[in-house]
Amino acid sequence: MKLTLNYDELTNCMRCGFCQPACPTFKETGLEAASPRGRIALMKAVVDDIMEPGEQFKAQMDLCLGCRACEPVCPSDVKYGQLLEQTRDAIERHEEHGWFVRSTRALMFKQMFPHPKRMRALGFALKAYQRTGLNKVARATGIMRLFPAHMRNMERILPEASSQGVVGALGTFVPAKGKAVARVGMFRGCLMDVLFLGSNVNTVKLLAECGFDVVIPDSQNCCGALHAHSGELDQARELAKKNIRAFREANVDYIISNAGGCGALLVEYNHLLHDDPEWKESSAWFAERVKDVSQIIMERGRIPQLAALKNESGETRPLTITYQDSCHLRNVMRAGNAPRDLMSRVEGARFRELQGADRCCGSAGIYNLVQPDMSTQILDHKMEHVKETEAHYLLTSNPGCLLQMKYGIEREQIGDKMQAVHIVDFLYERLANRE
Ligand code: SF4
Ligand code: SF4
Repeated sequence: MKLTLNYDELTNCMRCGFCQPACPTFKETGLEAASPRGRIALMKAVVDDIMEPGEQFKAQMDLCLGCRACEPVCPSDVKYGQLLEQTRDAIERHEEHGWFVRSTRALMFKQMFPHPKRMRALGFALKAYQRTGLNKVARATGIMRLFPAHMRNMERILPEASSQGVVGALGTFVPAKGKAVARVGMFRGCLMDVLFLGSNVNTVKLLAECGFDVVIPDSQNCCGALHAHSGELDQARELAKKNIRAFREANVDYIISNAGGCGALLVEYNHLLHDDPEWKESSAWFAERVKDVSQIIMERGRIPQLAALKNESGETRPLTITYQDSCHLRNVMRAGNAPRDLMSRVEGARFRELQGADRCCGSAGIYNLVQPDMSTQILDHKMEHVKETEAHYLLTSNPGCLLQMKYGIEREQIGDKMQAVHIVDFLYERLANRE
């Protein structure tokens, strides 16, 4: 940690505690050590040789969601997320995992996520599992009970997987409708392209409808966010370099993400590669072009008419919608009101603000799998406010949040009244006169 942590950033914290009310783990536990200020103090104590980075230290670092809600409220502008990544990287370098964890990490981080073709093959296998009814057999015979409860819950709500990918569905270029306002590169993601192909396709079509020429470079790969948040910074840097090359060759004005978790790392590629002089200029070129789909449409797009859907009798029914923020879109990409402004353009839809929408839902990458108890506790509190909205649609801007919201709706048994949907799918479905 002495080697990896930025000491100036550690001492930037003036211990005011303004960050504490924003922190979900502090709210749930009331413990100083589970707050941003407490975690920074722990990091500093280790670097200053006051304490050993033992199991309790590691447990507090693991309990952090990495939601970065502590950053926008910090008067000293402490880059907490970067300190956390550096700490986790240092821990991981000395971690002695058992064979199961070691091989699972190697399989996912090295053999699967970085390889789009292998991810599509995984999508093919998952789709076969879902379509042939093997999933129902596995549940009925009790085989699924071999897996932990939180994995069984996630398996039940997974959307239908796909092996086609957005390039297979649309090709690598989709022209703007009318005169192009800009040329954008679509970041397709790794899991997004397998589990949410429909949202990727709708993102490209929505961008084209709003006046953007859309390029989808096929040589791009996973953003590296799961690696960076799990202490695999070297691997994240390699993935970043490949993406920078792919989008530079595509000569785009902007790089567009439809997943807050991916976009937040893409927008910080300059920081990720700050120690590498060879990549200084191109990582800055990349980072300054990254935008969320809602941001680019609000800033540069020609926004088409977004109309309420009609039923078979030609009537529109009053619709209430609400929105759960993606922490990384809000706290790192600083997308501000762009998603809400876009939603407000839908005719006939009444927006009801979700109390605590800016607070993490407990998904946080793979947090819901590795910290299921805290994740579920946070989700249950979130769902109390979700129910108060009485919304028909609960919209989100990130695949992890979307799955977590689907799980929350299932857990509360309110699926007959409310559905969780990606904001792009909701908007695209309401595009009047779409092709
Ligand atoms: S708000 Fe910033 S300066 Fe204040 S305690 Fe939290 S991290 Fe430190
Ligand atoms: S990243 Fe989120 S959970 Fe972690 S300390 Fe900051 S606010 Fe708390």
